[in-house]
Amino acid sequence: MGKRVVVVGGVAGGASAAAKAKRENPELEVVVYEKSGWVSYGACGLPYVLSGEIPRLEKLVARTPEEFRKQGVMVHTRHEVVDIDPSLKTLTVFDHTEGRTFQDRYDHLVLATGARPTIPPIPGTEQAGVFTLRNMEDGEALLKALEGARRAAILGAGYIGLEVAEAFRKRGLEVTLLEARDRPLPHWDPEVGALLKEELERHGVEVWTGVRVTALRGSGRVEAVETSEGVVPTDLVLIATGIRPNVELAQAMGVALGPTGAIATDERMRTNLEEVYAAGDVAESFYQVLKRPYWLPLGDVANKHGRTAGAVIAGKEARFHGVAGTAIFKAFGLAVATTGLSLEAALKEGYAAKKVFIKSRDGAHYYPGSQPLFVELVYEEGTERLLGGAVVAFDHGALRIDALAALLSRGGTVEDLLALDLAYAPPFSPVWDPLLIAAQEVR
Ligand code: FAD
Ligand code: NAD
Repeated sequence: MGKRVVVVGGVAGGASAAAKAKRENPELEVVVYEKSGWVSYGACGLPYVLSGEIPRLEKLVARTPEEFRKQGVMVHTRHEVVDIDPSLKTLTVFDHTEGRTFQDRYDHLVLATGARPTIPPIPGTEQAGVFTLRNMEDGEALLKALEGARRAAILGAGYIGLEVAEAFRKRGLEVTLLEARDRPLPHWDPEVGALLKEELERHGVEVWTGVRVTALRGSGRVEAVETSEGVVPTDLVLIATGIRPNVELAQAMGVALGPTGAIATDERMRTNLEEVYAAGDVAESFYQVLKRPYWLPLGDVANKHGRTAGAVIAGKEARFHGVAGTAIFKAFGLAVATTGLSLEAALKEGYAAKKVFIKSRDGAHYYPGSQPLFVELVYEEGTERLLGGAVVAFDHGALRIDALAALLSRGGTVEDLLALDLAYAPPFSPVWDPLLIAAQEVR
């Protein structure tokens, strides 16, 4: 038998690592331990199951434990790794179904323990009717709660809050979105937040910004959210105020964290410990814009991390080249895509940064159904190096961000953007692509 690979965590990072290692080197003995009841699924699809657009949670599953077994990967759900001894290369596993603890060993170890929601330190969060959305179990619980609910309050207007606000409205709920900062998606510049707020309100979401949530009221079951701006009566509360990496197991065994608080790795996803790799939301990435470690807890990144770790373990040449910080999501009709640094973030980094923000369209002005499309470009004054940008559109036009992401990953300038030969036909773009219009605006 070949060497033994143990993967801790079986969602995006872990499942990718396990599948890739086995595929590239069938001699390897690959085992996955997953604490929850589910493996290998797209958590990114959870909002669309909540909205009812995807009929069942099972649809999100890429590979069941049975399918893994057929490929020779042994998957153990409801098995939690509670301790790892890197000097002996052994681990202690708790089987939640049988209620027993046992020992295992590894030659190669992949830590893919992901991240978990942060809960604000306010009274009342432990009550019934208060939820987070991270995994399939959370999805199951929320689906059940939606059946009897009429009103929902969401804490946090970040990615999850914005996607789920749409889902809850599609279920017919009254929705109040409570954001601590002065706009939705506050990590990006204000113009984008203003467009989002308008779209949310157009679809009946009540948006409260600059609000301090002080308590969740109720006697065992949540009844209202108490805030600095007043009380919001509700049947359920979704807490979507951010996440943090599950690094405790790694730390306890001596794996080094990076400056972001997630696990530090090299471009082969190796940690500081021999034959210990990390992948997914628990691990850092190299940020191509700032040339330093960065935490970008996203599904596509987790898959790339896992695939790289799996390939390296299997003896193949593979590297993860880092991230430009690209993300995309939608709230109702509005798709928002961002990459690199916002102006606010670029200034905070000490760049002499500037931005342009333009309004264009996603098709020729005469083409039926063409809609407004907005582009923000952030660049360094003088060198005109591109530092970041956003595309906001009412459809797939927001995917234009990918051209900008490609330039960012190569240190591109406004001149490089102007030199691009971008696609044009009336249904897809004005004759001058909105990205080019924005670049011209810099001049
Ligand atoms: P996780 O998904 O957190 O999985 C880690 C697993 O490890 C967990 O199942 C956990 O139970 C298990 N585990 C932890 N500790 C142990 C232990 N000690 N023993 C055994 N098992 C353990 N990203 C995008 O790029 N695009 C999107 O549109 C998008 N939408 C999202 C929507 C929602 C609602 C959510 C919640 C996330 C979304 N994401 C999106 C983020 C994406 O889902 C995550 O980046 C991805 O799931 C990370 O995968 P992971 O395997 O690193 O971590
Ligand atoms: P987030 O970091 O995107 O947003 C959290 C929001 O909560 C912020 O706007 C923050 O200002 C606000 N907030 C913090 N404390 C608060 C408080 N006490 N009261 C009110 N507001 C408060 O985090 P999230 O929405 O929980 O999403 C978690 C992660 O899931 C994201 O970081 C992302 O990695 C992933 N995700 C990605 C996508 C996508 O790429 N399309 C979609 C969903 C989730």
